[in-house]
Amino acid sequence: MKIRLAADLQQDSIVDGEGVRTVIWTQGCPHNCKGCHNPDTHDFNDGALIDVEEVKNKILNLKNQDGITFSGGDPMCQPKECAEIALFAKSLGLNIWCYTGYTFEQLIILSKTKKEILDFLNCIDVLIDGKFVLAERNLDLVFRGSSNQRIIDVQKSLQQNEICLVQKYYEEDNYNILDHESNFVFV
Ligand code: SF4
Repeated sequence: MKIRLAADLQQDSIVDGEGVRTVIWTQGCPHNCKGCHNPDTHDFNDGALIDVEEVKNKILNLKNQDGITFSGGDPMCQPKECAEIALFAKSLGLNIWCYTGYTFEQLIILSKTKKEILDFLNCIDVLIDGKFVLAERNLDLVFRGSSNQRIIDVQKSLQQNEICLVQKYYEEDNYNILDHESNFVFV
């Protein structure tokens, strides 16, 4: 199985989630957010096809990393490949973050017909969801570019059937957490 990547794995990132992380830059994104920082990652035919086993081998040889962050591009466009890599990384004790242009609610709906999305969600600790919205851009936000995007505790949200934000990341900015929690029922 091969995954389409925009670049080689990037080690030692401290801006793509908590701690020291390795970023997997997936290639292909359908969202076309105005002001996107990574327009070169949109084309689904660009980048390079890499064997998933090769990616796993690179992860196996990582040193001093706290976790893996899937970014792009939209990793949710290659959920099967990402799930296999994420599951492997988790088995090594690495935590998993993921950025996506879809909202959590959209992903749950999509997962009804595409089970791989749920398989991937089941591997993710923290999801930053939603498109980048230029009008809501804020450089002071922690780990996200625009204030519509949410930092979601995925496993808690799946268990409780509602959006559960990771509260500690909102303490540093004036984000009204109550405006962004959702009563959406997933099942
Ligand atoms: S979802 Fe991310 S990669 Fe895709 S267009 Fe929006 S900002 Fe760019």
